[in-house]
Amino acid sequence: MLGNYIVPFVLFISSAYTSCLHGTSRLPRRMNNNGSVEVSTFGYTNLQGPLNWAGLSTENDACATGTIQSPINLDGSIPTAAVAPQIAIPCVDSAEFENIGSTVETIVNGTLNFEKTKYSLKQFHFHTPSEHRINEEYFPLEMHMVHVGTNGSGIVVLAVLFQLSPNSTTTEILKNVTQNIENIVIPGRVTETGPLNFTSLITYLHTTTLFQYTGSLTTPPCAEAVTFLVTKDPLPLDVQTFNSIKSVVKFNSRYTQNELGLPNLLTFAAKNNARIAAADEWVRLANGTGNNANATLEGKVATTTSPTMTFVTEIAIGTEVVPTSVIAQIGP
Ligand SMILES: [Zn+2]
Repeated sequence: MLGNYIVPFVLFISSAYTSCLHGTSRLPRRMNNNGSVEVSTFGYTNLQGPLNWAGLSTENDACATGTIQSPINLDGSIPTAAVAPQIAIPCVDSAEFENIGSTVETIVNGTLNFEKTKYSLKQFHFHTPSEHRINEEYFPLEMHMVHVGTNGSGIVVLAVLFQLSPNSTTTEILKNVTQNIENIVIPGRVTETGPLNFTSLITYLHTTTLFQYTGSLTTPPCAEAVTFLVTKDPLPLDVQTFNSIKSVVKFNSRYTQNELGLPNLLTFAAKNNARIAAADEWVRLANGTGNNANATLEGKVATTTSPTMTFVTEIAIGTEVVPTSVIAQIGP
């Protein structure tokens, strides 16, 4: 997909510093008294990682049970937005740029009008590699612009994908956002972006094709009913900018979730794991009573017997009877 950029690089130069309402969007700083920001308690490795997010807090149950979870693989079954969102983000001389442990985040103000509802931009942050995939392909970088309904409800995440450019071109605003990223290598640290002019990015977002679906936050608490608008054609990213972001963000991509409306992958896996454990337990007990194929265990429902072997073919998990995926084999 290299070279498949819908917006030529020249657009980013020609429209720079035009129609820029200056200095009106800066938000108050979010730092603590000690000059740092709060760091996320979840992560992407070991028990802090996405397989165990629901285990970190009961507030995160949806991470393991939700059935419209994000991110997803975007293919022909996912529709594109019929109407473009209307976006306004004033220019700023600089904005707060912080490392919250789970990502790096820029605090800016802005508005988005979509499907007759008005939203406020709260922040934008980065994921590497991308969380969404298009026809299975991942991208090196994904930017999430998080908007909350001005009436207090509803979230729209505008997700912008980036692709490494073969000719060192890049998306100008990425460079300006991350120009001081070496100051926030340590989680909790805060620095400033360079001057931010969103004109070219907004022009691109107003004209490019956007996948649209209802999913969830891709981080705890994985709350659902989040509207995602995801760019179909990636913007360019040069290797130097990518590496500078990757060296600080490191890895923060939640694994691809199940197809929308189907069981949560963790729920599904848990059921299979319980089935395997029940089969193992039955074999253990059967062997413990002298290779007795008729050993009783609640989990065993049916067996088949060959001249030399007995196989467990069904196991009960709670009230559900399921075939065993592993063959539990009992002597002789
Ligand atoms: Zn995100």
